[in-house]
Amino acid sequence: MTSASPLRDLRIRADRLCQSLLELAQIGATPKGGVCRLALTDLDKQGRLWVVEKARRLGLEITTDQIGNTFMRRPGKNAQLPPVMTGSHIDTQPTGGKYDGNYGVLAGLEVIETLIDHEIETEAPIEVVFWTNEEGSRFTPVMMGSGVFAGAVTLEHAYGASDTAGKKVKDELQRIGFLGEQTPGEHPCGAYFEAHIEQGPVLEHQDKVIGVVPAVMGLRWFDCTVKGFEAHAGPTPMDIRIDALQHATSIMQKVVAIANEFKPHGRGTVGMVQVFPNSRNVIPGQVQFSIDIRHPDSVILEKMTALLKDYIAQVSSEKSIAIDLKEVSYFPPCNFDANCVDTIRQAAIDLGYSQMDVVSGAGHDAIYMNRLAPTGMIFIPCKDGVSHNEIEDAKSEHLEAGANVLLHSMLAFAKPVTN
Ligand SMILES: [Zn+2]
Repeated sequence: MTSASPLRDLRIRADRLCQSLLELAQIGATPKGGVCRLALTDLDKQGRLWVVEKARRLGLEITTDQIGNTFMRRPGKNAQLPPVMTGSHIDTQPTGGKYDGNYGVLAGLEVIETLIDHEIETEAPIEVVFWTNEEGSRFTPVMMGSGVFAGAVTLEHAYGASDTAGKKVKDELQRIGFLGEQTPGEHPCGAYFEAHIEQGPVLEHQDKVIGVVPAVMGLRWFDCTVKGFEAHAGPTPMDIRIDALQHATSIMQKVVAIANEFKPHGRGTVGMVQVFPNSRNVIPGQVQFSIDIRHPDSVILEKMTALLKDYIAQVSSEKSIAIDLKEVSYFPPCNFDANCVDTIRQAAIDLGYSQMDVVSGAGHDAIYMNRLAPTGMIFIPCKDGVSHNEIEDAKSEHLEAGANVLLHSMLAFAKPVTN
């Protein structure tokens, strides 16, 4: 084959990709059209076996590591080169959709099938991976498989995680036949690409087909506890009561105000509130609530945190009340590899798709892979920006476009063999 020209016209098969997505979605299908395939359940096992069987039919080499991450490899001409990898996850939320995660895995297999159809050999091997327990719905932490692979979570910690019934990750891996022998991370990776539905409304709103993801927002989670003094709502005059809820709500308002100060990427959310004693005629004595703040720039995320802490200190001293702020989770912002990001953008342009940069507000396995290898992500629109919901939907032409961008981005790294 001569260089580039015939490859420019190379396209994946949308009908085949959509059919695969629909078939996999039947495993754990819910009455409302969604999917429930929680990590390491019997249904996850069936889903995994379905994907592995598909990979076998394509003649791929399959390996599984000790946390159940499963790699499906098409050899390259040069076995010394690290593989160019793609993938995502096939576990879902309890009321999840057909595309979150599944799209990234099946788009990867569609890329390989396209290369096989056209007898295109690559210099570097190409691999598709599905990571264990990305969703974190049954077992925490989230992004467990890729986290262990990247060394951010220890194998012992992951193995020890248990679900609400007390079942442990290691036992469940063994039970479903996916406790592999390969040490996580002892598996080279030359570059990693992940195609994913956006899970937000930006692409649809801007009427763009491809989201080029330069970064993922960093996040800080806090638990905040405001202590007041419980007293009868009637006899206690307004100026001598200590109402924990009134002070808590002023902090909640501040969380949102801080996010608004750093538009367009700032995020501030209070999603969980507990009021004690939660009685109609008792002045609240204690309020606990969650704070979630996000931004893709670590300096700004730091500043948002400082503003929050300053405000809490001010409320605490002015009102002489005890307020406790405890950080419970921190993910630093993730900036993807400039070369991968540019390659994705260029592929979208060359293929004639409209595109724009979209900063991801949600976590993905690609965040951990970015620590190990040059990494990039491709987003496609999802209907009304909705995911983690049974009504999650994506258009076939968008599924096709994202997979074509994935194909050409991976080829740019794996290098087609030219004879
Ligand atoms: Zn996902």
